[in-house]
Parts: sequence; C-alpha cells; structure tokens
Amino acid sequence: MKAKSQTLDAAACARQALEWIEKPSLSFEESTLLNQDTLQSFKEYVNPAFLEYRKSVTTSGDYGAVEWRASSLNTLLDTRGNEYIDCLGGFGIFNVGHRNPAVISAVEHQLAKQPLHSQELLDPLRGMLAKTLCALAPGSLKYSFFSNSGTESVEAALKLAKAYQSTRGKYTFIAAHGAFHGKTLGALSATAKAAFRRPFMPLLPGFHHVPFGDIEAMRERVFRCNNRGEGVAAIVLEPIQGEGGVNIPPDDYLRAVRQLCDEVGALLILDEVQTGMGRTGRMFACEHAGIQPDILCLAKALGGGVMPIGATIATEEVFSVMFDNPFLHTTTFGGNPLACAAALAAINYLLEHDLPRQAMVQGQFLLDGLKSLAARYPDIIVEARGKGLLIGLAFVNNEMGYRFAQEMFRRQVLVAGTLNNATTIRIEPPLTITLELCQQVLSTAGEVVETLRKPVQATTVNAALPTG
Ligand SMILES: *Cc1c(COP(=O)(O)O)cnc(C)c1O
Repeated sequence: MKAKSQTLDAAACARQALEWIEKPSLSFEESTLLNQDTLQSFKEYVNPAFLEYRKSVTTSGDYGAVEWRASSLNTLLDTRGNEYIDCLGGFGIFNVGHRNPAVISAVEHQLAKQPLHSQELLDPLRGMLAKTLCALAPGSLKYSFFSNSGTESVEAALKLAKAYQSTRGKYTFIAAHGAFHGKTLGALSATAKAAFRRPFMPLLPGFHHVPFGDIEAMRERVFRCNNRGEGVAAIVLEPIQGEGGVNIPPDDYLRAVRQLCDEVGALLILDEVQTGMGRTGRMFACEHAGIQPDILCLAKALGGGVMPIGATIATEEVFSVMFDNPFLHTTTFGGNPLACAAALAAINYLLEHDLPRQAMVQGQFLLDGLKSLAARYPDIIVEARGKGLLIGLAFVNNEMGYRFAQEMFRRQVLVAGTLNNATTIRIEPPLTITLELCQQVLSTAGEVVETLRKPVQATTVNAALPTG
C-alpha cells in the first residue's frame, strides 16, 4: 500500500477550503490556483478516472473547467468567468433553475431556525410536505416516506412492496431493459445495465427484465412467473426512461401495465425520480397516461436544486404495512427541515409559475428545432425525441454523440450523455429556460452538427467513453 503524504494536515486543508468557500469572487491567479488544486485533489483523493470522462477537463486545456457559481436560473459560471447555458440540468435536478430565489429564501429562513430535526419532537415541515405531496400526487397516493436520494426512494419502494406482498406469497419483481433505478444493491437489482451490475452479482433474487414499452412481453413474463408459483409482487418502471436514452413507450403502454397489475394483484411502482416535478410537461409523467401507481418515487428536482431529498409516496392500502412498526424502514437525515423547506418552496414555485406548461411549450420548440436538424443531417443524427423538456438526440454512433457533446461544451452549452454512453445525448435544461436561450441552443447545435461533417483530427477526440 502506498503511504499517504506525510505533509497533509487536516486542519490546514479544511482552513484553506473554508477560505475558498468564503471568497465572493476570484482573481485570475486565484482561479488558476483553485483549478490546479481541484484537479490535483480529484486525481489524488477522489478518483483519477473522473478526469478522463469529464468534458470539462478534456475540452478545456490544462486546467479543466471548474464550476464557481450559478449566474442565473439557467446559466452557471466557471472559475474563469465563462458562462454556460445549462441543458444538462444536473440530470434533472434543476427544474426550478439554479439557486432559485424562492427556494433559497425558504431554506435560509429554516436554516436560521433549525436546520436538522431533534429526532424526538415532531418536526412540522415533514408533516407539511407529506400533506402537500398528497395533494399534488395523482389519485389515492397519500403517505410519504422521505429519504435523501433517488436510489433511496426506490429502495424504500421495493421494501414497501416486499413487506406488503410477502404475506401474500409474492416475491417477484419485473423491471425493464434499459431501466435505471439507482445503484444500491436493491435498486441495482431493478437497474438493467450489465456494466453496473456484473461486479456485484448475484443481486436480489426474483428480479426479471423485459423489453420496455412492449406490453405483450410484460404480460407473458408476468403470467409465466405466476404459473411457476413465483407470484409477481410489483412491476417497476420509469414512465419514460431517462438514463436509458429518453425512451418513450407507446401511448397506451402505462395504462395497459396498470390494468395488468390490477388483474394479477401486482403493485405498480413508478420511478419518477427524473420524469417528475414537471419535467415532461405534466407535474408527473404518469398523468399523460391518466393512471396512478401504487408507489411513486421522487427525488432529483424535488429539492428545488438546493437540497437533496427523496420521497416514496404510497396509497394507504400499501403504506399501512408500516403502521405496525414505523421503524421498519428509516433514515436519519430523511425529511430533514432544510430538505422539506426546499421541497415545499420548489413545489410552490412549480405551481405558481406553471412550469409544467413551460416545459411543454419550450420543449416543443426545442424538439421541433432538433427534429429539423435531424432531418437535415441524417448521416449524423438518427432521431430527436422527447416529451416536455426531457429530450434525447440519437446519433449514428457513440463517437458522433461524444463529439457533439464536446463541441457543445466548447461553445458553453452543457448537454448530457446517457448511462456512460454518448450515442443518445440528453437535453434537459431547467424548466425556466427562455425561448431566447432555446433559440441560442438550437443555433449552437446547428453549428456543431455542421462541424461534425468535417473529418476528425485524432488529437481532438477523447473517445475513451465505454459503450453500452
Ligand atoms: C437519477 C435516478 C435515480 C437515482 O437517483 P440518485 O439520486 O442518483 O440516487 C433513480 N431513478 C431514476 C429514474 C433516475 O433518473
């Protein structure tokens, strides 16, 4: 084992960090120092491999691009003062934008009173948020369990389904190919990607995957399991697969899955960690299909882009398995006052500004523009697809997608790959994005696609991204 550097002093490290935190702005020299320090720390203490994956490093020369502050709801600044249009949206965190003043204000007010709960007295914001979510969520979804991430919200959903169905002798879960539900051992059992799963096999028993959007394949698998005595406890789906590449199922798919669940007494768990909170043009994507799940998973944008929070919302019928013993599943920080304050402000902002409708309008504008780009460059772009502001741009291959993302980054527009793959690039800006910025993104995308027609110089491409 390599020895740690003897010169490291924890107090000095922390003091230096606090100085950076307290600095309102940077000189050019300071920005150079901060960038070097950040690169060095990632290399030595985080994980050197990240430096190869980040376009911010591979595209920005010696010092990489290091983020410094949000400059508006839709843009952020690096330490050098370069401003980026955020069309990555933190993979769906920033639905109400960066540093939304309404969210910041709620969090600051709560911060001044009590940031974390005593764990003994009742914490009022938890009750307020649960009540608000009951009002917001579709149908008979009623009780909320709070956690700190999307993965945890899925984990809680799986445990809830297990606790509910174990007395009924049902243990099987069915998820979809291309699914992403998180990476803890339980959630990973529902996630479909081999590269994430293989080193951790065997995962939870009783998980099956079927093609997404194919109701016949789902029916067949459910009946085959039931016929073998492996009763289906729950079907777990994203209404639209986000990480899997913005995969949109046929219009009647979710409704048919809901009917199938009712027919065989399986629960429907919808993972709206990415599609929820207005992203697809409705508050929840399942509203497009006019159905409700038995268990709804939320996170990402729920915290208003300021605090991490996950929520697992279930019907009383299902949630009541936790009534006998509320300690069956708990987490210390879940539903803490700061996170609840952020979520309450985010929900209020989404509703007051009708951001789901904004997502629909802006999303259609972007999608129309990208579709016409795809039509003009069929040799580069296979398809533009999306719903609201969850948009995928499918390229002919991984390298084209990667070069597109890299060239967009060079022009200071952030876009996202999917599941470590660049064949489909995701565009999911804050729902606050203006039509003007959308137009700017479209012009930039047009410029970039034109440059992709030119042959590539070997040195400018980092095609090191692993594929599928
Ligand atoms: C991001 C995501 C998760 C995992 O959320 P984390 O907060 O990263 O744990 C789970 N499900 C879906 C659909 C997601 O997009």
